[in-house]
Amino acid sequence: MKLTVVGCSGSFPSAESACSSYLVEADGFRLLLDMGNGALGELQRHCGLYDLDAIFLSHLHADHCIDMCAYFVARYYRHEGGRCDPLPVYGPEGTEHRLTTAYADTPSASSMSEVFDFHTVKPSTFEIGPFTVHTERVRHPVEAYGIRIEHGGKSLTYSGDTGVTEALDELARDTDLFLCEAAFTHGKESIPDLHLNGREAGETAVRAGARRLVLTHIPPWTDPQVNLRHAREVFPGPVELAAPRRTYEI
Ligand SMILES: [Zn+2]
Ligand SMILES: [Zn+2]
Repeated sequence: MKLTVVGCSGSFPSAESACSSYLVEADGFRLLLDMGNGALGELQRHCGLYDLDAIFLSHLHADHCIDMCAYFVARYYRHEGGRCDPLPVYGPEGTEHRLTTAYADTPSASSMSEVFDFHTVKPSTFEIGPFTVHTERVRHPVEAYGIRIEHGGKSLTYSGDTGVTEALDELARDTDLFLCEAAFTHGKESIPDLHLNGREAGETAVRAGARRLVLTHIPPWTDPQVNLRHAREVFPGPVELAAPRRTYEI
């Protein structure tokens, strides 16, 4: 599997990075995890506009899904070749309605489904192309999922947005690469069931037995080096910060 960080800024874009979006590729199949603010532009550095095979949306906060409205335009009004066929989109209950409402002016209430084939995510195990994926509910103010993606005996686990939860410990069990949010800073922000701080991301990685930790979703108003240091204080394995355009072979 190849993981490419398309965008990793938490909550709102920074000057350097779009919001959450990660491209996962194997056997020529391209699965995009989340499509936050600015992600559609960045994505085109890594693949063609119409080269995605599936999209997974961890939850429906704007910083994880709002560029789906822009992508709707690109697929619905495609200049050459006409309207695109429906692309599989996996998201929480109400994804189509949320995106249609955010767009506000689709030609009809069902226009989104002409170019996206919506699948409702529940905690389960299923196949997306060559990947076996496991989804679990995580702790966030809205219905939100973490996802574990397996291929060729390797695994990648993405936390989505979450507070501390056993579900994530299990989902990331012995995972090869743990892409974990660390939006808060230990000793600074403490709101339960919203986000992890660097220390909690490290502790989650320890409990899970993750092999490698990549911290992501750090907002522009937070010093990433502090969160990185806090994670390193508790997790003995390799830890680093996600950065736009960084790639990982898993
Ligand atoms: Zn977020
Ligand atoms: Zn969120």
